[in-house]
Amino acid sequence: PIRTRFAPSPTGALHIGGARTALFSWALAKHFGGTFVLRIEDTDVERSTPENVAEILNAMKWLNLAHDDGPYYQMQRMDRYREVIAHMLKDGSAYYCYTSKEELEAMREAQKLRGEREKYDGTWRPETGKQLPTPPAGVQPVVRFKNPLTGKTSWTDVVKGEISFNNEELDDLIIARPDGTPTYNFCVVVDDWDMGITHVIRGDDHVNNTPKQINILKALGAPLPFYGHIPMILAPDGSKLSKRKNATAVMDYERMGYLPEALCNYLARLGWGHGDDEIFSREQFIEWFSVEHLSSSSSQWDPKKLNWINNHYINQKDNAELTDLIAQRLTKRLESQAGTVPLDSYSLAAIVELYKSRCDTLEDVTSAAEGFYLKYTPNAVLIAEHVNDANRPALLDFANKLKEIDWSKDTINALIKSTLAEHNLKMPAFGVPLRAILLGQTQSPSLDAIVHLLGRSECVSRILSVI
Ligand code: GLU
Repeated sequence: PIRTRFAPSPTGALHIGGARTALFSWALAKHFGGTFVLRIEDTDVERSTPENVAEILNAMKWLNLAHDDGPYYQMQRMDRYREVIAHMLKDGSAYYCYTSKEELEAMREAQKLRGEREKYDGTWRPETGKQLPTPPAGVQPVVRFKNPLTGKTSWTDVVKGEISFNNEELDDLIIARPDGTPTYNFCVVVDDWDMGITHVIRGDDHVNNTPKQINILKALGAPLPFYGHIPMILAPDGSKLSKRKNATAVMDYERMGYLPEALCNYLARLGWGHGDDEIFSREQFIEWFSVEHLSSSSSQWDPKKLNWINNHYINQKDNAELTDLIAQRLTKRLESQAGTVPLDSYSLAAIVELYKSRCDTLEDVTSAAEGFYLKYTPNAVLIAEHVNDANRPALLDFANKLKEIDWSKDTINALIKSTLAEHNLKMPAFGVPLRAILLGQTQSPSLDAIVHLLGRSECVSRILSVI
């Protein structure tokens, strides 16, 4: 059975790159009916916070990437790591090293001067027939892994293909610090082993860790998982994606009004593909997912495409559900303002229906709706610009007749047409000033719909207050 994992470090919020890694790991497990494990790598105690853990769990939930096992916390597994270290010390695959920090420093300096690669010199590494120095008194040793000195460590990366490292380039990794706490690469190894992980999908910033991890797994007699290292997401201009240029936290996208299903669809296409398909459901994604179609070259963040996909999902969503989402956002906005009218003054569902096709985000829809709920104040600038002697009689006439007609979109539409004909005006010459008066904007969805939504008395009074 396939078991994949996502192993974020809670040193910050969940990043969109991390979310994409999680999405691919999740999809791989789901495709094969396997298990998706969530593991919180919180051993960096200085930078890990409970707030970040909560934020990551929240973002995973929002993305609807449910884990089947976990979350495991590395800080709760310390006893297990110590147990494995003790076992390795016993079987000789790890050893105590008493070289002090200062000695290491000096060793590195000397190697640098000689133009050699910086590497632990193996003073405390046990070999058959070798006499080890006597441990100095009062020094707490580190534990090092006894890495093979010769040969190669290779694997067929499911994304990048064949990757190989010479063992002599790999150091004897420190697996426990002087205080006995295990180090990062070691914890990952023990976890992947204990959690029965069959496929490790992660960012390619971890490629250099993989041979170290493989060698430790081999020393433990543990089965090797498949590894797939996915390239980074770059900014639209090809540079590193950074907070300064683009939002990078998953929950920022929630705040900006993206739907989780749209963000997942977009992320899925970023570095993975199924022919030319751009829009697909979660079910299709799971069915189609295969690591063979993960791209080995980096992909670029494309806000326009994300907007296009989000617009699609907004318009595909059931209007009542969409209206609920907009109502939540709108309520929050209106609460913080004076001079608003109650939410039931207008049909929010109708406003949403009318505006959604032209909106890329929930925030855009909310902004469009917000205009209806703020107490009317004429937009003097636009009105001065667009209302004039050529259109004033038509606007007045229209307002007066609005008082009389049966109230439907069709009758409003007919009244607009007859007003244009009577006053010999073209649509823009009437529509632009009318929009300026009613909405304080010169563009909007169709006039009959807007007038219908605002209602008879509101339209009449707005027009008459200005003319
Ligand atoms: N905790 C690591 C990170 O957040 C991931 C390690 C792994 O996937 O092996 O980059």
